[in-house]
Amino acid sequence: MAYRTYDVIVIGAGFGGSSCAGLLAKRGLKVLLVEKNDNAGGKAMSLSRHGYTHTAWVVIGAPVEGNYYERVLKELEVEDLAKLVVPGTQGSYYKTSTGKYVRLPPMPEGQAMDPNRLFDWLEIEESAREDALKFFVELTMMPPDKLSTLHDTSFEQWITGYDIPRSLYAFVVSLCSDGLFMGPPDCVDAAEMIASLQDMFLRNGGVFCEGGFGRVAEAYCEAVRRNGSDVLMDTRVDEISVEDGQVTGIVTSEGAFKAPIVVSNAGLQPTVLKLAGEEHFDKGYVNYVKDLIPSWALLGYRYFLKKPVTDAPYGVVFSNDSPWSLERFNKAKLGQASKEGVLYFEVPSNYDPNAAPEGKQIFMTGSYCPANPHMGREEVESWANAGEEILFKAFPEFEGAIEGKHLYTTRHVSNLTRDSVVPGAGGETIGLGQFVGQCGPTKPSIKAPIRGLYFVGADAGGTGVGTQQAIESGINVANVVQRYHQMRKANP
Ligand SMILES: Cc1cc2nc3c(=O)[nH]c(=O)nc-3n(C[C@H](O)[C@H](O)[C@H](O)COP(=O)(O)OP(=O)(O)OC[C@H]3O[C@@H](n4cnc5c(N)ncnc54)[C@H](O)[C@@H]3O)c2cc1C
Repeated sequence: MAYRTYDVIVIGAGFGGSSCAGLLAKRGLKVLLVEKNDNAGGKAMSLSRHGYTHTAWVVIGAPVEGNYYERVLKELEVEDLAKLVVPGTQGSYYKTSTGKYVRLPPMPEGQAMDPNRLFDWLEIEESAREDALKFFVELTMMPPDKLSTLHDTSFEQWITGYDIPRSLYAFVVSLCSDGLFMGPPDCVDAAEMIASLQDMFLRNGGVFCEGGFGRVAEAYCEAVRRNGSDVLMDTRVDEISVEDGQVTGIVTSEGAFKAPIVVSNAGLQPTVLKLAGEEHFDKGYVNYVKDLIPSWALLGYRYFLKKPVTDAPYGVVFSNDSPWSLERFNKAKLGQASKEGVLYFEVPSNYDPNAAPEGKQIFMTGSYCPANPHMGREEVESWANAGEEILFKAFPEFEGAIEGKHLYTTRHVSNLTRDSVVPGAGGETIGLGQFVGQCGPTKPSIKAPIRGLYFVGADAGGTGVGTQQAIESGINVANVVQRYHQMRKANP
């Protein structure tokens, strides 16, 4: 390490931490970025083994046009280190009234979605199409001032104001919204969900990165180094040092480092309750932090196939029975309702020629489960089996093509990313900023009530799908921290 004292220390090289550290270093601040893993990317890190290279699990980026992945790569001048890919097609499956899973028909050249082809696929009667179209127009064209009135409203409350067929409801909820924010429509914030759906419908979804999404965060880390700042990988931060209500630095396995500003990407709850410690905050804030509800989670398999089973780069498998609700999820947890919801899949070897050995295919799945990283084996298996059942029904030839498979669970997600410090939390897919009461004006603040301590990532400071939300937070937090640093210099 060149220095032991920095302008800013950033804990964690997820999408939020690495983008924030890269931007601050590029703007001339002396930054130390510390990451506990040997690779950057956090919840969207890349894995490479046995000839397969890919994101750790299903991670579908959005929007295509005007996304932050690219904007920050450009600002940091590291576009050459991460090649974004837009396959331009997908392969979602809907279970029709015949009980068969039918693939979304191809859309006309240059058109993201042709409503009539979509309505045919969803078996929407002619008589219901005018209302269905009106629903789409109102959704996609809702102006920001109207959107901002919907922060205290759940997406379910909003969507039930429209009389739309069940298949269209299942398309919007299961294919789009369940996966965007990882929560049932009666939990997710209507305003943020509608804004994200507008992004998806108007600016398209389906961005990936060759070599896995983690390459984007790795490129941001490289920008930290290229701008004369430091990155310390494989180093866990054990403590954030606080003296008289002011952050003074961090303590790690590699020793202590000093800075008057610490930005944490380690998760709001672990940062407050573990790294800084409850004793530095007032009781009301500690209770507030403990009470924040995480997004739900995905678990699934990485299947290594001896031959290709599909040409789809990604997709969603759903039926009219897929949509989750709080009540159904709570019953499913107790074994009193079906765990069969929606299945997301991604096939990296269909958009990245180097993702799998010649002639083979890697196919990753994800299906809903609780965020708890301490679920027992039986509970994990029951959620995993529910996802696999959908997969085998949609792709009847799949089982025969399996050469190997790895299960990933919320325990793996928590181990790779944030510690579990609140019962039931830690393995969440996104973060803390997705649900009603935790979005818009009530989204957790990026500023902790300790001088010099900030949060970055999908808990605070951004909007949109997970990776996008984390980078938007990285941009916003970098702006605030840069100004705070300059103001401190002006008024030491
Ligand atoms: C299974 C799964 C599927 C997903 N699918 C999608 C998708 O389709 N589309 C999408 O956009 N998003 C998806 N996401 C969500 C998205 O990946 C995350 O929301 C986003 O990457 C979170 O970024 P972050 O910066 O908030 O933090 P994280 O990714 O959680 O990064 C935090 C970083 O901090 C490090 N850290 C934590 N504690 C310490 C410590 N004490 N010391 C040092 N370092 C520490 C961690 O190792 C990690 O690198 C998915 C996530 C999962 C798990």
